[in-house]
Amino acid sequence: MSEGGERGDARTRLRVLLVEDNSADAELVMRELRRSDFSVAGATVKTPTEFRAELRSRAPDVVLADYNLGQWRGMEALDILHQEGLDVPLILVSGALGDVTAVECIKQGATDYVLKDSLARLPVSIARALQEKQLRAERRRAQQDLAHKVEELARSNHDLEQFAYVASHDLQEPLRMVANYTQLLAERYRGKLDEQADKYIHYAVDGATRMQTLIQDLLAFSRAGRQGMEVEPVDSAAAVAEAMSNLRAALEENHAEIVVGPLPTISGNASQLRQVFQNLVGNALKFHGSAPPRITIHAEDRGEEWLFSVCDNGIGIAPEYTDAIFAVFQRLHTRTEYPGNGIGLSICKKIVERHGGRIWVESRPGEGSTFKFTLRGAASPPMKREEPHEACVRDLVSR
Ligand code: ADP
Repeated sequence: MSEGGERGDARTRLRVLLVEDNSADAELVMRELRRSDFSVAGATVKTPTEFRAELRSRAPDVVLADYNLGQWRGMEALDILHQEGLDVPLILVSGALGDVTAVECIKQGATDYVLKDSLARLPVSIARALQEKQLRAERRRAQQDLAHKVEELARSNHDLEQFAYVASHDLQEPLRMVANYTQLLAERYRGKLDEQADKYIHYAVDGATRMQTLIQDLLAFSRAGRQGMEVEPVDSAAAVAEAMSNLRAALEENHAEIVVGPLPTISGNASQLRQVFQNLVGNALKFHGSAPPRITIHAEDRGEEWLFSVCDNGIGIAPEYTDAIFAVFQRLHTRTEYPGNGIGLSICKKIVERHGGRIWVESRPGEGSTFKFTLRGAASPPMKREEPHEACVRDLVSR
């Protein structure tokens, strides 16, 4: 094993490991590199044992290997690099190497090959190999960063869901007590205390009842993401029909006109899909304009997925709120203007996203809104889904 010199200058430092059994050839390679833009330090090895030992003592920037080394072949050095877990470019520096062999070596992982009678090309080949290695490292780092962030996000989402579920579940019981007893106070003592007391009791009953609704909504939202989801072919026309039947009173009261186009069979959960249609149509009825509500439900084949739309002629939504309305408890009106708690659309978003789809709204104030969402057709491959952690939650709840 021999060690070459290193010039102290501002050029890029390059540690070369030469796998070469011919000292004269090794010297020729080193001489060529010293003439280049690199500040070269080199070691030469002849056997696999020497090669492995040198890799372990100082990992090189690049390996230059002769193709035929008598006892072994330069390509075997590549196996050793892999075994040592090193991403170091290996360039074959060889006498005549047929095109077929050269291509085969590149296929197996050699970075390049340079013929011994055109060594002038070597520095260019090394520069390119180092650049590719740097790009590979950057890409690996970016992928690791991304994977780490995705993992963090999934964990924090899961923690948040768990918190919302446990909090809303555990708050129900004490709240039921408050609501029941203030109700009892109201019934027993109405008119028996002074007017002020009646007013206070009324506020207390009202507050407790409202809080109960909020907690139930929060629990419903949390459950939409937790319940184990049976995925099966679902006839979306049947899901719409069921939603309409649940909304019959509101439909009749508002003299609504409903137009439903041909709807496909999708891959999903029937009860959750019914819930999406029910929330969207319920909103279209609630936020109607001066004319009676006219609601159109439609689906369009987009190849991999179906694009559903629920279109109304209601009050519409200003463009700056089209994202916010999908967040939990976000509303654009007071409860005296329109009843509700601002949970319906967040449940729709959660359900659609759990099905692997997207949901958004296109709207013009005063002209109506079209809610759109995508779902996979029944023939599409089922998507991978994280199972809910019910057992874990039950533990927490029972504590
Ligand atoms: P809620 O209906 O209880 O307010 P949602 O989450 O279903 O809660 O809706 C959030 C808000 O989005 C509503 O308060 C309303 O301002 C707006 N919105 C939803 N659907 C419509 C619609 N079809 N037309 C106009 N505004 C709508």
